[in-house]
Amino acid sequence: MEYEAIIGLETHIQLNTETKIFCSCKADSWNDPPNTNICPVCTGLPGVLPVLNKAAVEKAVLLAHAMHSEIRPVSYFDRKNYFYPDLPKGYQISQYDQSLAHGGYLDVPMRDGEMRRVSIHKLHIEEDAGKTKNEQGRRLIDFNRCGVPLIEMVTGPDIRSAEEAAQYLIRLRQLLRWLGVSEADMEKGHLRCDANVSIRPKGADYLNPKTEIKNVNSIDAVRQAIETEIKRQIRAVEGGGKVEAWTLSWDEDSGTLSKMRSKETEADYRYFREPDLLPIHMDEAWKSEILAAFPELPLERRTRFMAEYGLPAYDADLLTAERSLSDYFEAAVSAYGGDPKRVSNWLLNDVMRMLNESGKTAGELRLTPQFLAEIIKMVDKGTVNTPTGKGLLEKTEETGKSPREIVEAEGLGQVSDSEAIRQICAQILADNPEQVARYRGGKTGLLGWFMGQVMRATRGKADPNTTRRILQELLDTSA
Ligand SMILES: [Zn+2]
Repeated sequence: MEYEAIIGLETHIQLNTETKIFCSCKADSWNDPPNTNICPVCTGLPGVLPVLNKAAVEKAVLLAHAMHSEIRPVSYFDRKNYFYPDLPKGYQISQYDQSLAHGGYLDVPMRDGEMRRVSIHKLHIEEDAGKTKNEQGRRLIDFNRCGVPLIEMVTGPDIRSAEEAAQYLIRLRQLLRWLGVSEADMEKGHLRCDANVSIRPKGADYLNPKTEIKNVNSIDAVRQAIETEIKRQIRAVEGGGKVEAWTLSWDEDSGTLSKMRSKETEADYRYFREPDLLPIHMDEAWKSEILAAFPELPLERRTRFMAEYGLPAYDADLLTAERSLSDYFEAAVSAYGGDPKRVSNWLLNDVMRMLNESGKTAGELRLTPQFLAEIIKMVDKGTVNTPTGKGLLEKTEETGKSPREIVEAEGLGQVSDSEAIRQICAQILADNPEQVARYRGGKTGLLGWFMGQVMRATRGKADPNTTRRILQELLDTSA
């Protein structure tokens, strides 16, 4: 029997607001000692009242709009009641039946070029809980994360493989950063994912009980954990057993799943309306204010780059991986005025390496798009040769000076005067009679060695094409 997997993902996205969702404690405490960003509100002391952070709602609306979700004109907060040591209030403020948004989808390009549309069932705002850890036989609690604003987003059961789940997360992460609503760093817990997995005979239209995998903290872990769980369920069913609705925890180090508990049902949480908060009234005026600066999204921009600039999909994909890089590209193309593919090549080969090495984003470079365009133009015109042009990238980045200024100050202009090059070539041949004899004896690979000598003599400034032509002429004809 052949099986297919039915996978839905629940993601928790940490919004990158300055402060927490219901108090003015700092939201991001990644580098802070435990229990230093807390107050009576986020630790649930009696007699305090939560006040909603407007910025969290606005970021949630940006995300909902990007997911093509319908935003409710009025949405409510609810209490999700459960007991756990990292939840001092005894309930989490969340949204239940009337959440900020519902419906929508994310289109995910797959590796084979196909597009998979993953539906979004639910999108709501909630607060995070704290963290617990075991140390030397004791349970330690850190409340710093209590009250950090989260978006929980639940997909429909539309994902069919571990790889598709990974691609969904890659695109979601790209989108979150693009919109500027979350740092989306999985290692830091900004983007967390639980996976619901079930299997059924291929072609069947019913759903079997699903398991929920928790504690998957990287895209690779998601891929591996789902793969492992699909195989486990197939083995269970083929062995005559059944799959029970368990909650499983992924252990990254051993690559295994272990049972945490039987899955709770919603009734276990005794949801009811949060009495301390007013509903969110998202009127048209506020919504249009939030969406006024809504950007062109990565996939739209990718399509446009291919159509408008004639770029291959590969280039368009890389250039739109990150918003500031794609803005940089467009600014450089406009300053350059020539073939966009040429700008793409310089960016993807050389500037990308600088970005990777420095950890900067394209927008932070001192090598501005205008400076990059200037360098490419100088190479095109033969003012400098290609290796000098590449060297100029680093020099411009280091000094912040215009490439033209650097060329003038350092005398880097290319020697393209063929008479001058001819004299230098002739001198080098005269100085190296042995190599000349070997070349003429058939070792024509030595041409590269002669090229190197000319470049050394001119400090890299000789035009390579002219040099090669003259060297060949001198070596081949005076034999
Ligand atoms: Zn607080």
